[in-house]
Amino acid sequence: MSPEVAKPPAPAAPKAPPRRKPPKQFAMIDENGCTGCEACVQFCPVDCIRLLPGTKDPNVNKICRINLDLCIGCELCVKPCPWETIYMLPFAEALELNESQAWQAEDHKEQTFADAFPVS
Ligand code: SF4
Ligand code: SF4
Repeated sequence: MSPEVAKPPAPAAPKAPPRRKPPKQFAMIDENGCTGCEACVQFCPVDCIRLLPGTKDPNVNKICRINLDLCIGCELCVKPCPWETIYMLPFAEALELNESQAWQAEDHKEQTFADAFPVS
């Protein structure tokens, strides 16, 4: 039996400079409803929505994930989502839900936001 190959550490997710004031709300994607269509991506003024590759085949079952370190809560991504799978949550509620990872699709739970930024 071949020895298990250790997974290389994920690259660090982009961090925003310290905020003067936390946003009142954050956008959350219900990943179970996300189709990875990327319609939301172009509307984000701070480029904090990125496509995650599929876990079995990188080109299949892709989803988008929002980096809450960068999100400014502007809501611009909500309406463009054709599947109504982005919603806004008050700051504290969003952080709590983010911590619980309950919004994450089961087969994408192992992926961090950093997986959306592959090192070339
Ligand atoms: S709320 Fe604004 S900043 Fe946050 S993900 Fe949506 S478009 Fe981007
Ligand atoms: S627009 Fe909606 S369905 Fe499409 S990638 Fe964004 S969150 Fe997912």
